[in-house]
Amino acid sequence: MPLHFDKMFSKYFGVIFLIVYHDFNISVEEYENRSKKNDFPTVEQCPHCKSRVRLFRHGFYWRNAIEEKQHRIPILRLKCPSCRNTISLLPTFLLSYFQYTADVIITKLRDIIIDHNIGDYHQLVLFYRKRFLNRLNQIEMFFRDDGFKGTLPKDPKEKATKLLRMILALGKATFLRRYRGHFSYNFMAH
Ligand SMILES: [Zn+2]
Repeated sequence: MPLHFDKMFSKYFGVIFLIVYHDFNISVEEYENRSKKNDFPTVEQCPHCKSRVRLFRHGFYWRNAIEEKQHRIPILRLKCPSCRNTISLLPTFLLSYFQYTADVIITKLRDIIIDHNIGDYHQLVLFYRKRFLNRLNQIEMFFRDDGFKGTLPKDPKEKATKLLRMILALGKATFLRRYRGHFSYNFMAH
C-alpha cells in the first residue's frame, strides 16, 4: 500500500512519531461503530528504517474525532520488529493532532476566512487560520503543480481567501486526497 505519512518530532519525548494515513473509505460514525474491528491494513515496509518487514500490531490508543458530534475512536499502533519504532495508523478523515476532522476544519476555515464568522470556537478557529496562513506557499505550490497558471494576491489574507476558494472548488475530499499524495504531510502540519 502507498504510504502517506506525517513525521512529528515530539519535544516532550525527544522521539519522532510517524503517522501513516489509511483511507478506510468509511465515515467517522462507521469507524467508531466498528471500533477495533475495523479493516486495518498490514504495513509491509517500515517508514522509519525502510526495512521490508511486516509491522506487527502494538495496541491502540483512543482519541477524539469531532464532526457534528464527538466520536471516540481507536487508533492502531504498529511496531517495526527490526528497529522497534512505532507508527500510528490514522484514518484519512483525521489530521494528526487535530480533534476535528479535516472536513470540519476546512469548513471552519471557510467560515472565518470567507464568511468572517468566527462562531463558537473562537480560539480554535483562530489557531486554524494562523496555521493555514503559514501554509499558503505550500498550498500555492500544490495548485501550481496541478496546472494553475493564474495570479494570486500578494496580501496574505486575500491570498488565503483565494486559495481556500480554490480548495472548495476542487472539493474538500479531492483536495485532501491529492494534497496528501503530493506532499508527505498534511496541509495543516507545522
Ligand atoms: Zn523499522
